[in-house]
Amino acid sequence: MIQQLNTLVIGSGAAGLAAAVRLHAVGVDSVAIYTESLRHGTSINTGSDKQTYYKLGMYGKEPDSPWLMAQDLAAGGAVHGDIALVEAAVSAEAFHHLVLLGVPFPHDASGQFIGYKTDHDPKRRATSCGPYTSKEMCRALAKNIAESHISLQENRICIQLLTDATKTRVIGALFVNTKTGEFEAVQAENVVFATGGPGNFYADSVYPALQTGGIGVALEAGAQAQNLAESQFGLASTAFRWNVSGSYMQVLPDFVSTDADGGDERLFLSDYFDSTEAMHNAIFLKGYQWPFNAAHVPGSSLIDIFTFIETTQRKRRVFLDFRRNRLPVNIKRLSDEVRLYLEKSGLTDVDTPLKRLERLNAPANALYREHGIDLATQMLEVAVCAQHNNGGLSGNIWWESVNLKHLFPIGEVNGSHGVARPGGSALNAGQVGAFRAAEFIAARYGGSTVPQEEFEAALRSAMTALESDAVRPPRVDWRQERRDMQQRMSAVASFVRSSAPLEEAILQAKAQCNRMKDSGFQNLSPFDKAEFLRTRSMVTAQLFYLMSIHKHIHTTGSRGGAIVLGDGGTLIHPKLPSIWKMLPEKPEQRHQIMTIVADKDGTPSIAWEPCRPVPEEDGWFETVWREFREGSLFCN
Ligand SMILES: Cc1cc2nc3c(=O)[nH]c(=O)nc-3n(C[C@H](O)[C@H](O)[C@H](O)COP(=O)(O)OP(=O)(O)OC[C@H]3O[C@@H](n4cnc5c(N)ncnc54)[C@H](O)[C@@H]3O)c2cc1C
Repeated sequence: MIQQLNTLVIGSGAAGLAAAVRLHAVGVDSVAIYTESLRHGTSINTGSDKQTYYKLGMYGKEPDSPWLMAQDLAAGGAVHGDIALVEAAVSAEAFHHLVLLGVPFPHDASGQFIGYKTDHDPKRRATSCGPYTSKEMCRALAKNIAESHISLQENRICIQLLTDATKTRVIGALFVNTKTGEFEAVQAENVVFATGGPGNFYADSVYPALQTGGIGVALEAGAQAQNLAESQFGLASTAFRWNVSGSYMQVLPDFVSTDADGGDERLFLSDYFDSTEAMHNAIFLKGYQWPFNAAHVPGSSLIDIFTFIETTQRKRRVFLDFRRNRLPVNIKRLSDEVRLYLEKSGLTDVDTPLKRLERLNAPANALYREHGIDLATQMLEVAVCAQHNNGGLSGNIWWESVNLKHLFPIGEVNGSHGVARPGGSALNAGQVGAFRAAEFIAARYGGSTVPQEEFEAALRSAMTALESDAVRPPRVDWRQERRDMQQRMSAVASFVRSSAPLEEAILQAKAQCNRMKDSGFQNLSPFDKAEFLRTRSMVTAQLFYLMSIHKHIHTTGSRGGAIVLGDGGTLIHPKLPSIWKMLPEKPEQRHQIMTIVADKDGTPSIAWEPCRPVPEEDGWFETVWREFREGSLFCN
């Protein structure tokens, strides 16, 4: 039987759950969440030493306004100002919604929500519930879903979005049930697409292993994406995936590399610094400046590059050792900033990184113990990992896809961020997107406009192709295909990029897409069938990413989360060979957004659009009130 809904929500991270809660709250009753699992996704499985949520300033004397916050959201470049204004304006409402649902954001005795400054944040707009802010959000939202009896279907992987004959609107979706292996279709007036970021795209990744992502499905359906080349990378532990930011660096662990079997230990960073003190100063700074940043080359981001050279080029393993310092830390000879920090934190009389960590931030040590890693007895393996994609699908100010109507990409799969974003704005954008999509759907898309025969035709066509695949034997092993893709992405599409390897990778990715298309899935288990089909759309998405990155390096140069190497660049460190010449940024490109969309035969096609400015609105109450009463603000 085919499920018919007004709004289908795909994905149950913080964004998808919030959308379902808000749809229910604004009176859209015919709603269901279809998802892989409530236990999957980034939001429920990730965190950091102080996981940040970004919102309008609400504390003390410091003035703030939606317009000021929008300026800061857009300041990194490649951001549409009108969307930044919405993210700023609705941030207060979305934040208080979470508070009312029971998310324990801290406030003082006067009821003021205290904040702190995060990266790219000139005010104190950031807040946190501790290491697991997004998990707390998911728990509170899921509780409300259960109490409101909103339908939740788990073990469903979306493998296709169904569109009308003109391919300009979405009319439903197709899933594989991972328990039974059956295909299940949902006819829907609207689809809120909340499948998260490309978690399984890179071999070196700090996304939770339980987040894969589903952007390929939307790209195959013809949805436009933007800024796919803008991602965030940083040092993270790999056995238990966690960012080694802040305290983990400020206590000055040793960076040790070994051969593949753990032998031949080397303090590889010493090769690059003129003195032990210079090395310790750089490690300390890495704690503050955690994500890789082209602006910090030369500077603290060289640590990421030296680590990358060990793991990717020399094929060695890199570890942090908190048990001892092989070269003594001479606190008196460190830079004033580092020395003062260590003195003020009372860390001058302890002699190992681990003792410093215990004193500075004991929970940071306990966290690894809780996950089976004892920093007192073993080294911590690390790599420079993919952490977040600032780009994603293109939406308008109501988070509706710009070219596939009735599709609402929200959360990390929506690409509203640009070159750089204030820490915590990802979680805010996901909640704001949920509010906006729900409000728009309730106001404009509550009816039923999908002709039954049109849906049946779309479903028939999708099922015919799948039935033909179902009787063809698998010619590929999806696990191997996924590993190949991940290794390719980490090798050439991470934070160090250059033209020739990307061109080669694009050819390999095209061949991989063809291989996946040529393969069937006869006799695969329900789980393998679902993952085979998911891998097929992931490798399609990979091509969109690689093509965006290739175009990007030629047009923007080194900026944000990645550097570009090439002839004519500047050698980034005297002890590196001449291939390490970094091309400069072309700053004018910060006013442009790169878009990518499948053309009629499915080939990715790239274009640029100028950033829209933050609107300089000076409204008049009576006018805004009338527009609100009449609903004329809901236009797309
Ligand atoms: C280590 C780390 C630290 C971070 N720290 C911060 C921070 O401090 N502040 C901040 O703002 N952001 C941070 N982020 C980013 C932020 O956590 C994510 O952007 C956000 O949680 C994504 O939420 P989401 O709801 O969009 O997606 P997710 O939480 O990833 O949920 C996606 C959902 O979709 C489901 N799904 C995926 N594909 C399919 C499919 N094909 N079919 C059906 N279901 C599917 C998944 O199972 C899951 O339920 C961090 C990320 C990481 C990895």
